[in-house]
Amino acid sequence: MSDLAFTRTDATRKPQSERDAILADPGFGNHFTDHMVSIAWTKDGGWHDAEVVPYGPIPMDPASSVLHYGQEIFEGLKAYRHADGSIVAFRPEENARRLNESARRLALPELPVELFVRAVHELVEVDADWVPSGADQSLYLRPFMIADESFLGVRAAHRARFMIIASPAGAYFTGGVKPVSIWLSSELARAGHGGTGAAKCGGNYASSLLPTNIAAANGCAQVLFTDSATEDTIDELGGMNLFLVRADGTLITPALNGNILDGITRKSLIRLAGDRGHAVEERAVTVSEWRDGVADGSIVEAFACGTAAVITPIARLKGEAGTIVDFGEAAPGALTMSLREELTGIQFGVREDPHGWLDVIVPAAVGAGMRA
Ligand SMILES: *Cc1c(COP(=O)(O)O)cnc(C)c1O
Repeated sequence: MSDLAFTRTDATRKPQSERDAILADPGFGNHFTDHMVSIAWTKDGGWHDAEVVPYGPIPMDPASSVLHYGQEIFEGLKAYRHADGSIVAFRPEENARRLNESARRLALPELPVELFVRAVHELVEVDADWVPSGADQSLYLRPFMIADESFLGVRAAHRARFMIIASPAGAYFTGGVKPVSIWLSSELARAGHGGTGAAKCGGNYASSLLPTNIAAANGCAQVLFTDSATEDTIDELGGMNLFLVRADGTLITPALNGNILDGITRKSLIRLAGDRGHAVEERAVTVSEWRDGVADGSIVEAFACGTAAVITPIARLKGEAGTIVDFGEAAPGALTMSLREELTGIQFGVREDPHGWLDVIVPAAVGAGMRA
């Protein structure tokens, strides 16, 4: 247990009319709540100065290590408002554990899991009015950690800062779930053996932006990366894990091979599919297997998954040589949509939560009162 106490400096809150206008159509990542969390770390003093402060710019020395050597990691999770007024987060301790795995790879300090979860609660409690109540809306939380020592030498920084900011998020798909085309990146890779592919770090995203631009130029919404050594073994998308569905109901997803992110949506779907009696194979999957499986009818669905969109059905896979896979009118597949409905149902409190994945931040009675 970390007994670090949070101090709070109240922000001048956005007027309710302005907040209501934002919550009516928040989009994604455009608007931020009134407060943020900040916890400082030094090599000698450990974690200290846990604060909830007004949202705003942070002082940053131009020599800060994060600006030069990219020592940065982040997380993403959501808080949901249920019909009874309660506010919950989805498996925040999983994000806390994963942040620490990323921290180890990037030579940043680990944050006690309990302190991470408490920080999430502090922010959601103070900015509870920012958790939207519309269909498929949520409050997206972005915890992150940066090295902020002012020093140009190349070594792990002796100063770091953990922060959480929050942004109301609208429905990812407006006007119904739409299957997407994805682009197979051939030359450009996101990760290689021994690299940082399994860490959620800004650097991985920086290297995925050029391939994502190429994908967009080819009419694709996302880019699919393969193992840089084989260029056939599938890793994942730029920010989502991949699943294939066989005609016999078996789900196939690339194993955690050190190159890919241990997605919490991935993990949750493996559990839910297993509960329903589906076989789930976590193993090496190749583009050839996918292509041939669709051609012979043994692979009937594909989807990507991650916190932001939960499940995105995949309609086709394209690459330099043209269309590799095309599900045509078969996308989105039935299992894809049914798993999506089940997981979002748990998150939004319209289905039972059999695995205790919801962490109640604001209980029903209080939540209802605050909304009134
Ligand atoms: C965050 C992320 C995912 C999805 O993880 P979730 O925990 O399901 O949101 C998948 N791949 C990459 C590269 C990511 O950064």
